[in-house]
This record gives sequence, structure tokens and C-alpha cells, in this order.
Amino acid sequence: MRFVYSPEHLHLDPVYEVEHGVQSAASDIPARAEAIRRALEEDTDFVVDGATDHGTGPIEAIHDAGLLRFLEQAWAEWAGSRKANPLYADTFLHYSLGEGMERPPEPIELGSRMGYWCFDMYTPVVQGTYAAARAAVDVALTAADLVLEGEPVVYGLCRPPGHHAGPKVFGGSCYLNNAAVAAQYLLERSGSRLSILDVDQHHGNGTQQVFYSRSDVLYVSIHADPSHYYPHFTGNAREIGAAQGEGFNLNLPLRGRCGQNEYLLAVERALDAIAAFDGSAVIVSLGLDTYCMEDDGGLGLTTPFFHEVGRKVASVGTPLLILQEGGYYVPDLGKNTRQWLRGAAGLLPDLPRG
Ligand SMILES: [Zn+2]
Repeated sequence: MRFVYSPEHLHLDPVYEVEHGVQSAASDIPARAEAIRRALEEDTDFVVDGATDHGTGPIEAIHDAGLLRFLEQAWAEWAGSRKANPLYADTFLHYSLGEGMERPPEPIELGSRMGYWCFDMYTPVVQGTYAAARAAVDVALTAADLVLEGEPVVYGLCRPPGHHAGPKVFGGSCYLNNAAVAAQYLLERSGSRLSILDVDQHHGNGTQQVFYSRSDVLYVSIHADPSHYYPHFTGNAREIGAAQGEGFNLNLPLRGRCGQNEYLLAVERALDAIAAFDGSAVIVSLGLDTYCMEDDGGLGLTTPFFHEVGRKVASVGTPLLILQEGGYYVPDLGKNTRQWLRGAAGLLPDLPRG
């Protein structure tokens, strides 16, 4: 199985994030992607490819040019004012602040400009942010090229992840939406519609938003109930799409730590919807933060079970483009990713017996 990797992510090392008003260790750290890379490189069934530069065109098909410009320029401006700490917002463009009025202009002051484009305190801008975010998109698009060339299953080791980034907003450790950019890219080149299956622990608010009013991309997400879990404000079952997109957005929220029986029922519902939609490919937003050893217990899933889920998803019978999203329990992240991918590629699990 081919997979795509770029070392550019190593320079995205935010050191800390802010949770409940206090500084805590960053969750999206370079060790995550390196653990996955090592686990795949140790497995002779995987072959690595480098990422190729695809420019900003495919990104601007999804994201506002102002957001991209901000990501490109913010760090230089911040560092130029002799700041060395990660850039966080001071003031956010809260939904209700502008409700019923026209969208305000982008402010000039940098801390509030950050809050114009970013929605949380988990997603700072640091020196390596822009280059890493661009490289993650290139990983996704290089993997998409391999699918277009006829590879049945390809994995893109994207870091930073992408599914929380919307057209005009970033957050949740995501800056650019790798899966959404790849979906649009595939759609334009294949001329046929496709599905996105998001199996990260957290709802992919950004991906949902990009395709919410469209019928050419079906978005299906299995995630922990947003009443209790990030991103909190999206991911409810009643969000079914709007206008032409009505009926093309399926959210399957589950109880935290629900375990594999409930999870399998959700996977079957998701795959039924994907089969009925009958697209030409499936993009998988693969988050392994559903793992039972995550801080919050995830959805209670285990390493051998990830293999079974990968195998089931592959049964849809279309090409699969699998892109990395979350997964934060670093000691087991490599083996969990590898088992999921081995399942998707029709390979047997290679876990020790017992
Ligand atoms: Zn997640």
C-alpha cells in the first residue's frame, strides 16, 4: 500500500495550548506523525512517497484567500514585533456578535485578526504553521493523484489535521482542510461525485460546512456526541444539509466510550448511506482518537477492532483515499493506524496473538 509523507510537519511544534484558561501541553505534536511513519516504515506491505507541491489553487477552491494570507503572514508580523510565544487570539468573532448585521471587516490589530479567522485556543500560529499546513494539503493531493492513477487504497499522513477548518475559519489543531481540498480536487478531475467518511472522535465541522449545501459530496461522520465533546456546536443528527445539499449530510453521534457493538451499528449505517449515494470514491478522515486509551476514553475502541473497521470500510468497493486526522495517545498511535490501514488494504492484522 502506498502512503504519502512530508517531513515539513516537524517544524510545527506549538509546545502549549490553552484549556480552560490555563496553559497545557500541546496535543498535536510532531511525535504523533513520526510514530505513524515509523510504524508504517517497519511494515514491508507499505511503501512511502514524498509530497509534491500543488500550489495554492486547490486550497483557494475551498478556503477564503484572506484566511490563507493570514496564515502565511501572521508569524512574520508577530515575530517582527519581537514576540516568540505562539500567537493566540485576544478577541473572537463570535456568531452572535455580528448576527443580523453585515460581516465586519478584518481588523488590523494582530491578536484580534487571529480571532477573526480562528475559533478556539487549541490552534495557535507558530513559526512552522504555514509551511506545515501547506505540506499537509500537498500530502493529501499527492495521495489523491495516486488514486487518480488507479491505486485502490492510498493513505496520506497529514499533519496538521484538517477537518475542523472551514472556508473562513480554522481551529481544533486544523488550519487547512486537507480532506475537503482533496475531495474538490478529485471531483474536478474525475467528474464524478464522492463521499467523505469521517471517523475521528470529533465531528468534522469544517468538512461539513464546506459541503453543507452541495449534493455532489456526501459527508458522513461517526463521532462522540457534541453535547459533551469538541467541537460542541456542530455534529448533531438534525444537521442534514441545506438547500441542494439537504439529505447529503449524515451525522451519527455516539456516547463517549460506547464500545464496539454500538460503533459497528453506526459504521453499518454510514456504509449503507455511502452505498446508496454510489459515488466514485470514498475519502476517509481517519482519526484514531476513538481509541480506549485516549485521555477521555475515546469511543472505547481497541487496536484489533481498528483492523475490522478498516476492512468493513473497504467493503464499499470504491477507491479509498485515507487521510490522517486526530489520534493523541502516541504510544499506540502507530500500531492503531497500521491496523486500520491493513484492514482497508485487505491485509491480515499483524498483531501478536494472545
Ligand atoms: Zn479528533
